[in-house]
This record gives sequence, C-alpha cells and structure tokens, in this order.
Amino acid sequence: MSGGELDPAQHGLGDMDPEDLRAHGHRVVDWIADYLAGVGERPVLAQVAPGEVRDRLPEAPPDEPEPFEAALADLDDILLPGITHWNHPAFHAYFSITGSGPGILGEALAAALNVNGMLWRTSPSATELEETVVDWLRQLLGLPGDLRGVIVDTASVATMVALAAARERADLDVRQRGLAGRPDLPLLRIYTSEEAHSSVEKAAITLGLGRDGVRTVGTDEQRRMDPTALGAAIREDVRFGYRPIAIVATIGTTSTTAVDPVPAIAEVRDELVEELGHDLWLHVDGAYGAMAAIDPELRWVLDGAEHADSLVTNPHKWLFTPIDCSVLLLRDVEVLTRAFSLVPEYLSTDDGEVTDYMNWGVQLGRRFRALKLWLVIRYFGRHGLQERIHHHVEQARHVVAWVEKHPELVLMAPAPLSTVCFRAEPDWVPDAATGEDDDPRARAHDECNRRWLDRVNASGEAFLSHTDLDGRFTVRLALGSLHTTDERLERTLSVLDRELAALRP
Ligand SMILES: *Cc1c(COP(=O)(O)O)cnc(C)c1O
Repeated sequence: MSGGELDPAQHGLGDMDPEDLRAHGHRVVDWIADYLAGVGERPVLAQVAPGEVRDRLPEAPPDEPEPFEAALADLDDILLPGITHWNHPAFHAYFSITGSGPGILGEALAAALNVNGMLWRTSPSATELEETVVDWLRQLLGLPGDLRGVIVDTASVATMVALAAARERADLDVRQRGLAGRPDLPLLRIYTSEEAHSSVEKAAITLGLGRDGVRTVGTDEQRRMDPTALGAAIREDVRFGYRPIAIVATIGTTSTTAVDPVPAIAEVRDELVEELGHDLWLHVDGAYGAMAAIDPELRWVLDGAEHADSLVTNPHKWLFTPIDCSVLLLRDVEVLTRAFSLVPEYLSTDDGEVTDYMNWGVQLGRRFRALKLWLVIRYFGRHGLQERIHHHVEQARHVVAWVEKHPELVLMAPAPLSTVCFRAEPDWVPDAATGEDDDPRARAHDECNRRWLDRVNASGEAFLSHTDLDGRFTVRLALGSLHTTDERLERTLSVLDRELAALRP
C-alpha cells in the first residue's frame, strides 16, 4: 500500500488510522489540559454510592466498533463522577501526590513505544535509560555511587524484592529447597518498628516467613524506632534460636512521617554482625520521606542511609511522577539476581555484560517507566525539584502554625516533613457516656473529629484522611501536590474552620 490510501479489504482489521489517532490524540491532550486546569472546581472526593458507576456501564462489551468520541463522552459523564481527584489542589489525604505534565506525557510516549524491557536486547534504550535515571535519582538523594537501582511498580514490591535478597544472602538454599518442611532451618525474623508500613508484613507473608517472621520494635516519644530496643529484641530472639535476617528502617512513616535514626540502627546492625558472625540486611523504606533529601535543608533524613543494603523511594509519591513508579536502590545486585535469575532457553542471550532487568525480581515483562521519570527530572531540574519539595515543607510549617494558634486544635505529632497530624479538642463537646473505656472525654473528642472529617470530605472542597495515634482519632493533612497554591491551602483551612464551627451545639 502506498499514497496513504486504505485497502478496503484491510480497513477495519488494523489499528486506529494514524490520522484518526492524531485527531483523537489532540482531543485527548485538550481534555487533559482542561481537566488539570479545572480539577480544583470538582468535588475532590468522589460523591458516588457503591455500585453507581457499575450500574451505568453496559454489562456486555459492544459487538460493533464504537466511535472514540462516545467513549470520551462516557469518561466525562459516567466515570468522572466516580473519580477521587488525586490531582486536585485540595487533596490532602494519605500522601498528596502529583501526576505532573511531563510525567503524563511520558506515560503516553511509553505506551506508544510499548516496550517490554525484560532483556537489554528487547530495548537497549529502555534498560540503559533506567540505569541512568535511577542513578540520577541516587545522586539527587546524595547516596553513594556503589548503589545500583531498578524501577518497580510500588514500594511494597520493592521491599519484598529487597527482603528476598536478604533471605538469599542468609545462605539457606531457600531458592532451591523452599522453607516448608525443613527441620534444618531456624525460624527467620525481620525487625521493623511498630510504626512501619504493612508492606513489611506483606513481604514476610509472601516470602514464607509469615507474620510471625516480623518482630516489631518499640518507638520513642516521636514514634522513631528505638535502636536499643532493636538490639535487645534481636539478642533475645537469637537466644531463643531465631535467625535474624533483616532490619527495615523507615524514613517518613506513613502515619506521622517519623524518621527512624538510621545511623544508630546501622551501628546496632554492625555490632550484631560482629556478635552473630553472619550478615544482617538493612533495608530503608523511604517510600515517601526519602525524597525530602533532595532539599539540602532536609538531607539529614537520609543520614546513615549510606550504610543500608537497600533503599526504596517512590517517585510516584513525592517526585511528581504518575503512578506507578518506585525505585529500589541496592548495593549487592549479585545477591538479588542470585535470588531471582531463572533464564529459559528462549530468553538466553549472548549480549555479554549487559543488565537484563528480568533477573532483578519476580516479573518478566516490564514497562518503560524510566521514560516518565526521566522527563520529570529533566523538566524540573534538580533546583526545580528542590524548590518544590521545600515549598511543600513550608506549607506544612504554615499548617502547624495554624494548628498551634487555633484555640480548639491540638498538634498530635511532630511534623518533620510535609504531613501534619492534629485533632480538635474543643471544650464545648459534651462527655461521652461512661463505658469500659477509661476516658469518656477523649472518646467524645474522637467522635467529634470523626464527624468533622466526614463533613469536610462530604463538602467536596477538600479531602483529608485520618490515623490512630495511641487510640485517638487523628486528622492528617498531607502536602505534596504541585497544584496546592498557598491561596488554595488557605481556603482549605477555612473549610476546616467552617466545618468545625458547624458542629458546635
Ligand atoms: C506508601 C508507603 C508504602 C507503600 O507504597 P506503595 O508504593 O503503595 O506500595 C510503603 N512504605 C511507606 C513508608 C509508605 O509511606
């Protein structure tokens, strides 16, 4: 075929015509730009009831082709009402994130290339850009040059992969013989703080260590892991015959963004390695918090991380990259590939000294996530990233100041990064009825905060989430979106004020 004519016999069996793709593509880009420009006027938390979206979608797939425009119209009419807008300037729940312009365009380009980067030869650029961009991130974080990296989907998977490497390094032949039914093996243990993310336990479940394979260590008054308690826990376990294999420290816990004292934890690890005569892997979970280190004023969050065997951080959390994109950096790549490498004949190559990322974890096929991260880092540059992160931390300082001078609010935890935990404890709340709980006043305040948060989120003007601190219902306000201007944040604080005042009897 030539001259751009379509063979009528072929037409309909191929892909979207390139000129149609161009036209629809322009419309989609317009849609994206309009969406982002106007997202702040939409209700941030989806206001639909369960099943409402499903009820409006056809049960069966269409038999005949449908116009692309019809699907786009349904995106507006049916799907958007059921979207909680993570790119909304008043999205302050969980961790506040941004799918930025360069990242969005990177996703589109990655889909166009549709590369499966399982082997170096299945797209040398995909592998080599990934090696480059994870090294850029390492440099942005000020971490040592002997760390190498890989991009995976989520921090949960990165932590699982790191702990699989730790298990491999324990030299118990688990790769070949597994764990079950082996009287020759001791019980294996991983140590992490009671504030650690559930992904550590999920990794233990997946790796055959079970939840009992995770021992949680106590924290100090700022919810940071207590290194002395860590040492004591490990020594006690060893006396009872356990085999410690790894410690997981957290930089920025999910609940209050506490930063574990990694230098002291690494020291405890080193002492124990001497004592026990075997290795103890130190993994650092900096899914959200590690990115703070890009700002020189906050570089301290990664103090001691140079002693870690591995570290995970999520560009999709605080580095403006669309979900999903998580970077695992590690020192001993050889042990990781020893844990996972299984090369069937049809994938074997003689490419020599290249990285075949399929050997770095569980998945074979892998998408070209490096592209969007590359575009994000190039678009903003080190200084642009630094200034933005710094700004989010300043916004958090502003919220802390607002809480502290508010007569009815109490700051519930230190806010070292960009997330603030607080709650209302107004004196006009009547005591709860006495129950077996000790503190009817605190329970009444719990209920007041629950109702306050529900009202704020139902207003559609802001979305915040909560956590539990020592049994007390606590509101969390996370900053980290490029869309949250200072004016919009001010507006959100007045919404919080207004909804609290509305509860006053
Ligand atoms: C968010 C978070 C995770 C999990 O991240 P995913 O990428 O969603 O798996 C793990 N650890 C910490 C500290 C987190 O904040």
